[in-house]
Amino acid sequence: MKKFDIILWDLDDTLLDFAKSESHAIKTCFEHFDLSIQEGMIERYSEINLWHWKKFEKNELGKMDVLHGRFRELFEEYGIKGLSPEEFQLLYQEELGGTYFYNDQSLDLCKKLAKEFDQYIVTNGIVITQTKKLRLSGFDQIMNGIYISELVGYQKPQKEFFEACFEQSKTTDRDKIIIIGDSLTSDMKGGNNAGITTCWYNPKRKKNTEEVRIDYEIDSLGQIENILYFN
Ligand SMILES: [Mg+2]
Repeated sequence: MKKFDIILWDLDDTLLDFAKSESHAIKTCFEHFDLSIQEGMIERYSEINLWHWKKFEKNELGKMDVLHGRFRELFEEYGIKGLSPEEFQLLYQEELGGTYFYNDQSLDLCKKLAKEFDQYIVTNGIVITQTKKLRLSGFDQIMNGIYISELVGYQKPQKEFFEACFEQSKTTDRDKIIIIGDSLTSDMKGGNNAGITTCWYNPKRKKNTEEVRIDYEIDSLGQIENILYFN
C-alpha cells in the first residue's frame, strides 16, 4: 500500500547531475570568449556559486546579485578583465539549459513512479534554464507540475513557496507528500517548513550539519521505492 501520493523532486543535483553540466557549460563559455581555464577555476566557481545561492535561500541576496555576482567575484579573483559578468551570465545560462546528465537513471525511475504517484519539480533555478533542461531531458512530459522559484515568487525553503505549490496543485493532505532533494538548507529545511515528509538524497554520505529534520536518507535514487510504500 502506498504511504505517499505526491512526490516533490528537487532537480539540480537530485534528478540531474548539476556539477557535470556546470563544468561543461563553464568550459564552453570560456572557449567562446577565448579565455583559458586556469587550474582549480571550475572548482572555485562552484564554491562561489554555492555561496551565492545560500545567500539567496536566506533572502540576503536578490536573484540578479547571485547571477552576476558569482561571475564578478570569479573574474576578480582570477584577474580576468574586459569581460562583463552580465554578458557571460547570459551565455552561461543558455549553455546550462542545454546540458543535462541524469543521476541514477532518474528518468526511467520517474516514468515508473508516474503510474502510481503525482510528481512535481520544485526548483530554485532560473526559468529559462530550468524549462529548457526539463524539456530536453524529458521530465516535463512526466511531471504533473513544475514549480520554479522565479515564477512562484518565493523560493525554497520558504514556507510560502510550498503553500503556492500546494494551492496550485489543490493539495490538502500533507501527510501524503514527500520531498526528495540533495540540499539540507533548501529541500530538507523547506520540507520542514511546509510540514511534509523529507527524504535526503545524499550520494556522498555527507554529515547533516544543519538543524533540520530528516525522515529518510538515501544514497541512490532507486532506494526511494522502498520508502514510498508501507512494508
Ligand atoms: Mg539540488
